[in-house]
Amino acid sequence: MSASFVKGMKCRVCGTTYPVSPNNFCTDDFGPLEIDYDYHSITEAISRSKIEMRTWNMWRYREFMPLDNDPTVGLHSGGTPLIKANRLGKALGIEDLYLKNDAVNFPTLSFKDRVVAVALSKAKEFGLKTVGCASTGNLANSVAANAASAGLESYIFVPADLEKAKILGTSVYGAKVLGVQGTYDEVNRLCTQVAFKHGWGFVNINLRPFYAEGSKTMGFEIAEQLGWKTPDQVVSPMAGGALIGKVHKAFQEAYKCGLLEKEPTTRFFGAQASGCNPITDAVKNNRDQHKPVKKPNTICKSLAIGDPADGYFASRLIRDSGGWGEDVTDDEICEGMLMLAEYEGVFAETAGGTTLAVARKLLQQGKLSPHGKTVLLITGNGLKTQDAITSHVEPPTHIAATLDAFEAVRESLGDFTPLAKTQFKTQLVGV
Ligand SMILES: *Cc1c(COP(=O)(O)O)cnc(C)c1O
Ligand SMILES: [Zn+2]
Repeated sequence: MSASFVKGMKCRVCGTTYPVSPNNFCTDDFGPLEIDYDYHSITEAISRSKIEMRTWNMWRYREFMPLDNDPTVGLHSGGTPLIKANRLGKALGIEDLYLKNDAVNFPTLSFKDRVVAVALSKAKEFGLKTVGCASTGNLANSVAANAASAGLESYIFVPADLEKAKILGTSVYGAKVLGVQGTYDEVNRLCTQVAFKHGWGFVNINLRPFYAEGSKTMGFEIAEQLGWKTPDQVVSPMAGGALIGKVHKAFQEAYKCGLLEKEPTTRFFGAQASGCNPITDAVKNNRDQHKPVKKPNTICKSLAIGDPADGYFASRLIRDSGGWGEDVTDDEICEGMLMLAEYEGVFAETAGGTTLAVARKLLQQGKLSPHGKTVLLITGNGLKTQDAITSHVEPPTHIAATLDAFEAVRESLGDFTPLAKTQFKTQLVGV
C-alpha cells in the first residue's frame, strides 16, 4: 500500500487530536480516542471497481483501516457470506431477511477475527512483541491464533468460568491463559494495569482505537453484498457496544467516499441477554448513560460485559437512528439458536440466538418493521457454546448395522424437532 490515510487520533468527547500511538484515552477528560482519517484522499484513492477487483476478504477495504503499510496479520479474515434467509424470514414474518454469517470467519469462527487482524497488524507496526486481551471468549481465541501465526507472545485474560471450548480454543495455540476469578469487568481492569505497566499491546485496551476499526469491514461487506446499498434495518448483538457503532460508521464512510449513491438511513437495533443488559436497559429507559451490571448471569457469556466501553455511543446511535434495543432470557436465546439451525442450517453461538430472539421480540412489539431489508449480524459459532443447548437436543438413536434394525425404529424416530419442543414455535407467524 502506498500511503496511510490516517491523520492521527481524536478524542470522541472533546475532539482534541493526538499523534498515533498505542493509547486509547484522552489525557484531558479520559474520553475514548478514535482514528481520524483524511476522507478526501480516500475518496480519490478508491472506487467500487477498484475494490471489486480485489480478493474477497476484509482487506479489500484497506484504505479505511488504520495501518501505515500492508496488513501482516489476519490476511484471510472477513469475506463471509450474506445469506438470504427465506425460510426464517417467512417463519418470523420478515419480508426481506438476511444473515451476515461471521460464524464462519477465518481463523477462529467469530467476527473478532476482523478486529484482531487490524489490532495485531498495528501492533507489529508499533514494534510490539507481546500482545494480549481481556476477553469473554471469542477475542481470546482470535488473539491467541493470530499471535501464534504472527510469532508474537500472547497473554490472554478471561473470566475463570468461561465455556470449555473457548478456553481450549485459546490454550491450543500456545497462549498464556489466565483464568481470573471475577467478572469480565474485573478482568478488564486488571488488563489495563498489566498493559500500561509492561508496555504490551492489549488489543481491546491500549490498541482499542485500531481494534474497533476492524468491525467496520462487516458493514462494508454488507453494503457491497447488497449491491452497494445499505439495509433498512440491522440487528446487532452488543457486548462492549463497538460493533453496532462501527457498522453504522462503515455505512457513513462508504457514502462519504462515493461508494454509495444514497445516503444511508439504516435503523440500528441492539440485542443483549436479560442477564446482562446494561445497554438495552439504558435504551428502554431513555438514558444515554448505562448503569453497570455488577453480576452478569446468562448463558450468553460472549456478550456478558457489565460495564461496556462503548455503551454510551451505542445507546445514542440506537435511538438517533430510529431503532430500539431489547434483551431476552436464556430460554429464548436457546430457542433462537435452534431456530437459526432448523430454518437456515446455521449453527450460531449464544450471541446469534440472542440476536434472533431479540429481532423476533422487537417485531412483535412493532419496533422492528416486517418490511424492508433487514440484516441480522451472526457473530460467533455454535460449536463453541455446545453446553447451552445440549439438553434441548436428543442423542442419536443407536441401532445395529442392518436394514431391519433401521426399519424397526423408523416410526419411533418422532416428528418433533428440538425447536418444536420449545415455547418458541407456537408463537411464530407463518411457517
Ligand atoms: C465480542 C462479540 C460481540 C460484540 O462485540 P462488541 O463490539 O464488543 O459489542 C458480539 N458477538 C460475539 C459472538 C462476540 O464475541
Ligand atoms: Zn478529550
